[in-house]
Amino acid sequence: MTELGAEHTVVIVGGGQAGGETASELRKQGFEGRIVIVGEETQPPYKRPPLSKAYLAGSVQEANLFVMQPPILEKHRIEFVGGTAVQAIDREARQLTLANGETLGYDRLVLATGGRPRPLPVDGADAANVFLLRSIDDVNRIRERCAEGKRAVIVGGGFIGLEVAAVLLKQGLKVTVLEGLDRVLARVTAPEVSQFFERVHREAGVDLRTGAQLAGFEGHPEVTAARLADGSTVPADLVIVGIGLIANTELAAEAGLVVDNGIVVDEFGQTSDPLIYAAGDCTNHPSEFLGRRVRLESVQNAMEQGRAVARNLMGKAEPYRNVPWFWSDQYDLKLQMVGISTGFEQLVLRGDPTTERSFAAFYLKGGKLIAADAVSKPQEFMFAKKLVAEGRPVDAAKLADPDVPLKELAA
Ligand SMILES: Cc1cc2nc3c(=O)[nH]c(=O)nc-3n(C[C@H](O)[C@H](O)[C@H](O)COP(=O)(O)OP(=O)(O)OC[C@H]3O[C@@H](n4cnc5c(N)ncnc54)[C@H](O)[C@@H]3O)c2cc1C
Repeated sequence: MTELGAEHTVVIVGGGQAGGETASELRKQGFEGRIVIVGEETQPPYKRPPLSKAYLAGSVQEANLFVMQPPILEKHRIEFVGGTAVQAIDREARQLTLANGETLGYDRLVLATGGRPRPLPVDGADAANVFLLRSIDDVNRIRERCAEGKRAVIVGGGFIGLEVAAVLLKQGLKVTVLEGLDRVLARVTAPEVSQFFERVHREAGVDLRTGAQLAGFEGHPEVTAARLADGSTVPADLVIVGIGLIANTELAAEAGLVVDNGIVVDEFGQTSDPLIYAAGDCTNHPSEFLGRRVRLESVQNAMEQGRAVARNLMGKAEPYRNVPWFWSDQYDLKLQMVGISTGFEQLVLRGDPTTERSFAAFYLKGGKLIAADAVSKPQEFMFAKKLVAEGRPVDAAKLADPDVPLKELAA
């Protein structure tokens, strides 16, 4: 494959954090050619985590969300074509068709198309006061509806649902969270950690209901209540839905690239077409750490994979190696997670989640630390990150004992 030089064009589809990082790393790596980011959203690449936190709370302005302010994009000669989706990839002609009718040629293509929120499969989900939450525009619409005393029903007790609950409660709304499973955060944490967050939210004043199956909505044209499977109703002025993500893989699949729970890439971020790479939430990539393929939904992965792709486009041939980590802010609490706890054999708690507001939960398998959740315990998190990455055996009794200094375990 020819080396990329000043005469070449790299087009990045998707102006999220993966797309933004790919572009800026390409410049850092000395790429002199043309870089074009084509984004369906009108804003240049921006950070999504604050959307359900500080931006929803109104304490951060839109311009502060941008990964690169427009003058920086200009300085680095990164062209941004916003408000335009890429509709098709002609791999033979190396050309894209945009929704605005234009075509755009490429020498290398990066797909950073992320994902979209899973819609609620019930009647009334398209009402004007039922919201999904993925973009700045979504949050702007939600904020217009928020006022003290309004009743918000949140469908889904995952990270986004719980973060939104914390923010809206603080703004004086009456908040109900409906979680269909028997505990919140069930996909990602141990029951002890779920119970901790359920307690925190209930103590704050959220009406948090688990095992609450949404059956439909009442009211037309706007929803006035959520109806549960047991026949009960919960009055609502607005509904926010946070029930997961669908990876945006259609463009890749229609172009004939291999797609399987994400755009399939190798350890270099390359798809089944050597001229096309992919990064971020949309990829299914091999994880050396997990010993299997994985599709992650995390900023850290989007940024690091974007950077790795840029370096590999410049011929570095560096495999993307990553230990997943994630965080969530709720009230005054910071939850930090590292690794993937699925399949753990033993849970070790350092601190008591039933009475305290900070603790760490360590997940062990075969005597090794495979994952950890730290609630407002930054030091424990840093330590766990190191141990999880190293995959060394740990002493469970020492882990559980808050009197044993962490550095003794990490040694
Ligand atoms: C409310 C919220 C809170 C979050 N909080 C956290 C957190 O605390 N910590 C954390 O690690 N992660 C968090 N995340 C997840 C994190 O934001 C994502 O993992 C990250 O944004 C993924 O980046 P990405 O660039 O891969 O995809 P995205 O951010 O989804 O960006 C993809 C972009 O591509 C565009 N696009 C798609 N198809 C096309 C097309 N055909 N043509 C042109 N453009 C297209 C999309 O419109 C979008 O702008 C949060 C996400 C949300 C929504």
